[in-house]
Amino acid sequence: MANSRASSSESFSRSQFESLLKRRFFYTEAFEVYRTAPNYKGDNRGLYDYGPPGCALLANIVNEWRKHFVIEENMLEVDCTAITPEAVLKASGHVDKFADWMCRDPVKGEYLRADHLVETVLETRLSNSRMAGKDSKGKLERLDDATVGQYEGILAKIDNYDGPELGKLIKDLDIRNPNGNGKVEHPTAFNLMFASTIGPSSASPVYFRPETAQGQFLNFRKLLDYSQGTMPFASACIGKSYRNEISPRSGLLRVREFLLAEIEHFVDPESNKRHDRFDEVSDIKLPFLDKETQLSGRTDISHMSIGKAVDIKLVNNETLGYFLARVYLFLVKLGADPGRFRFRQHLDNEMAHYACDCWDAELLTSYGWIECVGCADRSAYDLTVHSRETGTPLTVREVRATPLEIREWRASLEKKLVGPRFKKDAKMIEFAIGKLDQDTLEGLAKELADKGVITIPTDELANGATSVELSSDICSIEQVTRVENMREYTPNVIEPAFGIGRILYCILEHVYWNRAHDTAREVLSLPILVAPTKVLLVPLSNNASFKPVIKSLATRLRSLGIANNVDSSSASIGRRYARNDELGTPLGITVDFDTLQDGSITLRERDSTAQVRAFEDEIVEAVRNLVGGSETWEEVVRRLPVFMGQSQDD
Ligand code: AMP
Repeated sequence: MANSRASSSESFSRSQFESLLKRRFFYTEAFEVYRTAPNYKGDNRGLYDYGPPGCALLANIVNEWRKHFVIEENMLEVDCTAITPEAVLKASGHVDKFADWMCRDPVKGEYLRADHLVETVLETRLSNSRMAGKDSKGKLERLDDATVGQYEGILAKIDNYDGPELGKLIKDLDIRNPNGNGKVEHPTAFNLMFASTIGPSSASPVYFRPETAQGQFLNFRKLLDYSQGTMPFASACIGKSYRNEISPRSGLLRVREFLLAEIEHFVDPESNKRHDRFDEVSDIKLPFLDKETQLSGRTDISHMSIGKAVDIKLVNNETLGYFLARVYLFLVKLGADPGRFRFRQHLDNEMAHYACDCWDAELLTSYGWIECVGCADRSAYDLTVHSRETGTPLTVREVRATPLEIREWRASLEKKLVGPRFKKDAKMIEFAIGKLDQDTLEGLAKELADKGVITIPTDELANGATSVELSSDICSIEQVTRVENMREYTPNVIEPAFGIGRILYCILEHVYWNRAHDTAREVLSLPILVAPTKVLLVPLSNNASFKPVIKSLATRLRSLGIANNVDSSSASIGRRYARNDELGTPLGITVDFDTLQDGSITLRERDSTAQVRAFEDEIVEAVRNLVGGSETWEEVVRRLPVFMGQSQDD
């Protein structure tokens, strides 16, 4: 009985679950004690500290991430700084576009994220309408079918609305702040980056990075050298990232500081983005929710092998498909429930400014579907903008099998005249000319021929101007033919980005359940791979004669690298096991008076609460196999004598 599950996702009690996480100190609100400090005006929302089991779980997830991706694919891991000069994030588009739409409630002085506001209000109206029949006082409004259809359609594509469209929805549907029912102002864009400056002079503006990707792009040349020019290759980076969320909510799911693990897979755009290990995953069936389904107002999932999804171009290319399958295997290995898993394709307006196709791995939780991993095809966007901005080619050069003849426009300056005429500005003008693209050069060539003078844009010159006039005596633009023996191209980038805190929270919800015989007994069935502690060591009582056995067992397990914990408190064994079920500890070893007689110990498995009894060497070997994944519990039970003594769980 003890091992059967009482809770399913439908009967899940979030308050019971979250109180377990708090009680067992998986995580806590940061700076919580300051809440009671007089005059404290800090905003702690979206800032969390992890406690011991949370930290161990986080570290185990990161460890597995490194094994599953970095080591398995020979990725090049880098560790880049979080403090980032403004120029970098200006070029990447984040300064101008990394923003969410927000509405202000002028009466309450509250700021609300516009899409979340619409979502919350419409979901409440729909849920009230469903409840209206049961509401004897008739306070809840019942919506007609057309309105229900309209609201459901809006919710299915909520991520596709921009600010003005959200503003129109808010006005047309009379959407108000749920807190106080006040009207809100029209949505405005709010940039999500935290800004600061460097050093005492405050002269250099910086931002805390909102993603780890930029550091990887800026090191592209060095990474390419490191991989000896071999394409494709991938880099990886894991580190804290910062987003000044408008209204952090849902615990760890929307926070302002979080651990992000990102992979940038650099690929030749002319290779059709093929992946040479695609056949290893092509048969894996994945759950998809595509763009068209969402736009038609539906959310049904279709299951299909990734091979077929790439064949029919649902997923754009093999490399993106390969990563979707690998992400799926990774999350399921950590404990994600495949029945509460989907890959959702981004709608066109929802896509980040740098992306051309994007699929999110989403897990269903009591907060709804949560994006845990974003898999984006960033094309050549970032490398191109940084090359343009810095004049450093972030490109790959390869010898061509057959040389290529190219006709192109080329501008040149009369070197002897440039220095004396433009003095300090000469370099800047040369740089500005180098940045002109072929279409612009063609137009300028005609203008130079017609008028004898052209104007080109520059950065600010000594006299404050931001353009310069060049006459035909100093500048010429002509078509030339050049033979290219080398091919130079900007790689495209496929990027899976993992929010580690979100993954941790969603997995915890997926592995949580209550024992049927006593729903107050909660269990976290974390896979042994990521469980914070692998083995609980329990002496029957605090009798001194158990101490040496427990001590030697702990040392033995430690020497095998197996995280273990001793609980020699005076609580009953059942209570001690129950406490560790809440921590997700998969195995328990009990030492009792028989141990002192015959050297045998019991091994208990968390989910079934079944036990086996054998000599210490055999149990330690079984533990080692279970932790290493070379044996399952079912195999251990078949091999070692089942312990039929009194169940310590009752
Ligand atoms: P994005 O770059 O927006 O696709 O985000 C990449 C991943 O970071 C997402 O899939 C989430 O798992 C995670 N993430 C983004 N924003 C937050 C946040 N405010 N709090 C926690 N995790 C986040």
